[in-house]
Amino acid sequence: MHELGITQNIVAIVAEHAKGKKVQRVLLEIGQLSAILPDAVRFCFDICTQNTVLAGATLEIKEIPGLGRCCQCSAEIPLDQPFGICKCGSTRLDLIAGEELKIKEIEIEELCV
Ligand SMILES: [Zn+2]
Repeated sequence: MHELGITQNIVAIVAEHAKGKKVQRVLLEIGQLSAILPDAVRFCFDICTQNTVLAGATLEIKEIPGLGRCCQCSAEIPLDQPFGICKCGSTRLDLIAGEELKIKEIEIEELCV
């Protein structure tokens, strides 16, 4: 399950960013072509965040659909796998969305003075 290592990285990055403050919410963007299963990340997140500043934080995952652009006619084609064929017949597609794994937002508890 490679999601465990990925999730450990995410937790480490967020924890560093939080600088010891409590994290309330993390929003991730996961592309549907990235071969990362959001459910597996959710599962690992609960395990990896134990005894960290992320313990109890809400994990939100936004799935980004795959999108390619044809190198020949520039048409944009929705993709459910990292390859496809354009209506012009070309198979030379640039992937423009769907492979991302991004930490989009981190919400950190603000301490009131
Ligand atoms: Zn085309």
